[in-house]
Amino acid sequence: MARYRGRFAPSPTGLLHEGSAVAALASWLDARAHGGTWLVRIEDVDTPRCVPGADLEILAQLERLGLRPDEPPQWQSQRGERYAQALARLQAAGLAYGCACSRKDIAQALAAAGQGSERHGELVYPGTCRPGRGGLGERAPRAWRLLTQAAGRISWQDRRLGAQQQALEAEVGDFVLKRADGLWAYQLAVVVDDAEQGISDVVRGEDLADNTPRQLFLQRCLGLPAPRYLHTPLVLAEDGQKLSKQNGARPLDLSDPAAALRRAASALGLPPLAPAKPLAETLAEAVAAWRGLMMPATFVFPSS
Ligand code: GLU
Repeated sequence: MARYRGRFAPSPTGLLHEGSAVAALASWLDARAHGGTWLVRIEDVDTPRCVPGADLEILAQLERLGLRPDEPPQWQSQRGERYAQALARLQAAGLAYGCACSRKDIAQALAAAGQGSERHGELVYPGTCRPGRGGLGERAPRAWRLLTQAAGRISWQDRRLGAQQQALEAEVGDFVLKRADGLWAYQLAVVVDDAEQGISDVVRGEDLADNTPRQLFLQRCLGLPAPRYLHTPLVLAEDGQKLSKQNGARPLDLSDPAAALRRAASALGLPPLAPAKPLAETLAEAVAAWRGLMMPATFVFPSS
């Protein structure tokens, strides 16, 4: 097996909350349990949503939890050139095309076709600007999309969720690589960075599982290796909603970092960790517990 390299990739749109701390801990534990390397990447491509200073505060929160990256953190905002190179390769291969559609155009095209295709609040792109179609006449392209015609059914074996699949073209459609406002899309940035950082294992929250087929297909188009994926259970708020910065989840309570780790470990389904232990011991106990979930060939994750 390739050497284990994992990462935690927070978007600095706010501080870590109980949910993002679970994803951070899981990726750290998995790297440690494999004797691997753990990286932190600040995913700050969506600049309008980033909160100034949140990046450094997240790094400080991780430090207080004892989760220290093995290499200096990277910032996606400094890596635009690499994303531009990847887009240029896709363009040269005829896999990316310019799109002039606004959200309204897309909604109208779908309505005209009698389709109300929407998944998780995102419209399934009807392919209006695809090469060879009429497009929107003279209107200049604003965004760049990936052609998903050749994707077929994308399947993967998630280490926790098991066999997964998605008919990418029908369920998502040609997705955005570079946005109309000139910003790089998460899908392109994450794929380029996971490959360049040699990530062997992506461990992240289950809310991102739906993005995996897009990333697998993009890896295929760019000739990049696919990491393994493990999507961790989500922490739900009392009203059953996913905890997120958008719905006002409170920042992680770090008044007792070991207690915060114990709560995150319990959300992951680990057996209860001993209370009133120093941070380093709590972390070591959590690594042993995480190892206990892994079998030689497969990974037995408690059902959630
Ligand atoms: N930056 C993404 C987020 O905070 C996570 C990306 C990933 O782990 O692939 O939701």
